[in-house]
Amino acid sequence: MSALLTVHGSQICFAVTARRGKLAPVDNANNSGIRSLSTTHNTRLLIIGAGPAGYTAAIYAARAGLKPLMVAGLQPGGQLMITTEVENYPGFAEAVQGPFLMEQMQKQAVHVGTEIIQDIITSIDLGGRPFRALGDSGDSYVADSVVIATGAQARWLGIPGEKELSGFGVSACATCDGFFFRGKTVAVVGGGNTAVEEALYLANLAKHVTVVHRRDSFRAERILQQRLFALPNVTVLWDTVVEAVLASEGQFPSARALVLRNAKTGAASELPLDGVFVAIGHDPATALFKGQVAMDAEGYIETVPGSARTNVPGVFAAGDVQDKVYRQAVTAAGTGCMAALEAEKWLAHHAEPVLT
Ligand SMILES: Cc1cc2nc3c(=O)[nH]c(=O)nc-3n(C[C@H](O)[C@H](O)[C@H](O)COP(=O)(O)OP(=O)(O)OC[C@H]3O[C@@H](n4cnc5c(N)ncnc54)[C@H](O)[C@@H]3O)c2cc1C
Repeated sequence: MSALLTVHGSQICFAVTARRGKLAPVDNANNSGIRSLSTTHNTRLLIIGAGPAGYTAAIYAARAGLKPLMVAGLQPGGQLMITTEVENYPGFAEAVQGPFLMEQMQKQAVHVGTEIIQDIITSIDLGGRPFRALGDSGDSYVADSVVIATGAQARWLGIPGEKELSGFGVSACATCDGFFFRGKTVAVVGGGNTAVEEALYLANLAKHVTVVHRRDSFRAERILQQRLFALPNVTVLWDTVVEAVLASEGQFPSARALVLRNAKTGAASELPLDGVFVAIGHDPATALFKGQVAMDAEGYIETVPGSARTNVPGVFAAGDVQDKVYRQAVTAAGTGCMAALEAEKWLAHHAEPVLT
């Protein structure tokens, strides 16, 4: 299966890699999509990021006549491009593949009039209007308003088997994938609030949950720990480091065990399981915006509660880049909608259109 996407007047071919259904950009022999001269793009609304938040903002903004311009970054489609089945996005009776869902959002955004550019924003100036950004391609972007939708990335352990089995027994999101492990045996790796919350969630679904933590105590809030320790189907392995994820045999291997090492004694062991959830935190993709827009201590962009407004008038943030609580495609889409509607209102009252 492959899909041909028309983006910014050039064709970029996305091949679907066999097993995971992952969309990967490949060179198109006839048209590489690479521009030789740098260009300045003027727009009423610049959307940075092409995940559920960015695409939804684009759909609403385009339908409001703003002719939004989206810069898609390194991972067009966002985080759902690296997953397999998505079962909790409303509108689909059967589970859909993450890359398929994102391809549909991309097509819908283009269909209603979004211009999508394959570039990565490397610097931005939000200090005065119009806002100015620079792309890795050398292109410049001049915008009356901006929606930041650059998402976040789950932190991974970086151990053998983890990447290969991602979506096949290895996950970083219990809310997303826990349902697939009903009545099964799973492990959660980590010791902070996220890990304990993931374990609590999974304990309602799985037969047994083992929490593997490299230290001898959790950093998580005490109330969460107390709830966890009270559960009969949860075990904690303290002072234990995960060294590898082992795969089952067969045509479609999935996680079957963890290789563990006791951090104090050095003793090695194996933990048989059906799934493992890595819960060691997330990194919002906000380095670019440091010092330009208000962020919390963890680097998430701060928005006015109940809105997508940042502390910079005309700059809005949507999706995981401003949400460390829910981190779901549907909440990202919801805040993307809010960002576009608020941008449209703000533009109507504040900005003189930049010249195009
Ligand atoms: C393995 C996995 C499985 C998941 N499964 C589910 C699920 O089943 N259901 C569910 O609801 N959620 C799921 N999630 C969570 C969901 O994917 C996220 O909540 C959602 O993708 C967040 O959307 P977003 O638009 O905020 O950001 P992202 O999807 O993270 O997209 C960010 C976008 O920003 C772009 N970008 C970043 N930096 C730049 C830059 N400098 N310049 C230009 N562009 C840039 C990237 O290229 C990307 O396009 C899963 C996540 C993972 C990792």
